[in-house]
Amino acid sequence: MQAVKRNILLNPGPATTSDSVKLSQVVPDIGPREPEFGDLMAYISVELTRLVGDPDHYTTVLFGGSGTAAVESMISSVLAEQDVVVVINNGAYGKRICEIAEAYGLHYLEFKSPSDDAIDLAALEGFIQASGRAISHLAVVHHETTTGLLNDIKAIGELCSRYRIDMIVDAMSSFAAVPIQMKEMNVRYLAASSNKNLQGMAGVSFVVAEKNKLESLKYKMPRNYYLNLYAQYKYFSEHRQMRFTPPVQTLYALKQAIEELKQEGVQERYERYVNSWTTLIHGITRLGLTYLVPDQYHGKIVTSILEPVCAAFRFQEMHDYFYSEGITIYPGKLDRLNTFRIATMGDIAYQDIETFLERLEHYLQSIGFVKREEETGDVGDKR
Ligand SMILES: *Cc1c(COP(=O)(O)O)cnc(C)c1O
Repeated sequence: MQAVKRNILLNPGPATTSDSVKLSQVVPDIGPREPEFGDLMAYISVELTRLVGDPDHYTTVLFGGSGTAAVESMISSVLAEQDVVVVINNGAYGKRICEIAEAYGLHYLEFKSPSDDAIDLAALEGFIQASGRAISHLAVVHHETTTGLLNDIKAIGELCSRYRIDMIVDAMSSFAAVPIQMKEMNVRYLAASSNKNLQGMAGVSFVVAEKNKLESLKYKMPRNYYLNLYAQYKYFSEHRQMRFTPPVQTLYALKQAIEELKQEGVQERYERYVNSWTTLIHGITRLGLTYLVPDQYHGKIVTSILEPVCAAFRFQEMHDYFYSEGITIYPGKLDRLNTFRIATMGDIAYQDIETFLERLEHYLQSIGFVKREEETGDVGDKR
């Protein structure tokens, strides 16, 4: 088969995929209710579970949909009528969880935390105590893709365990790179998707949870339909089929992507991402740009870079220039600061970041941006 043009996606997902993942979608047509396809989905479910828990006790519930579908499924499926969820908001994805809770009319309490600093655990504990209500759940984003801030879910999980709170984690952009152990970290429900660190195609999202926990949802009054976690879990465990039409070809690609992840290793994949990030940080610092989150709280997968201070700078023009060169970048997602984001996830390596940096230097020169020497300190020393 002919090679597919290779673009470098530096947006935080969907990420660059290998040719083998792309081509694995070209398969004979198949009805997704055939046992053969059920085997494929069962394999995917077990292998995804294995990354974060013991498949004897945990399982992965697959949905056709983008990552938000899995987050919405958890939030709208696991709370009983009188339950209260604390939602940690330190970026656009934490805010999205609040919006989902709002849309379903759930009892939620928003805990706001700075987008470029660690969560203050004492303040969070005080918030839980002062709420005057029995908190049943807490929802947090593991890796805030807005800024690249990595939230300490292990410490938050310990707090939740002391207060008998079920922790719900959006691990969309950390899953399959940053190590997660659900049991040790007290993660009750976790959501992720096919197209970020898994390096598959967009269109499959999933929830991982303990089978016992999923069984217990049976007694909750459903407030959703397509996204009902218990119904999706139960149907698959009884029929080895999704309830509704799955994205067939995307699942073939996901199987291939999982095999490639197993070949590479999760730890090795993360090291490759961190290598690319190191290249990125040295490069932008040399060019006179700065970035937002201090290294010790940063996931080293997505970096929020401050826009160059230069009258001729226009993000859209920079985006268009890069796009014409086969490189995709995304704007920032912060209200108070002008930033753009560079992700080092996907089937890319530090050499691709070097290519990006060459083009960036060219672009900055073309708009007459000059590095201000006094503003560039050591890498990582920006507080
Ligand atoms: C990507 C992402 C999502 C889901 O986004 P979709 O566009 O629905 O795939 C949710 N949470 C986080 C933290 C993400 O990075």
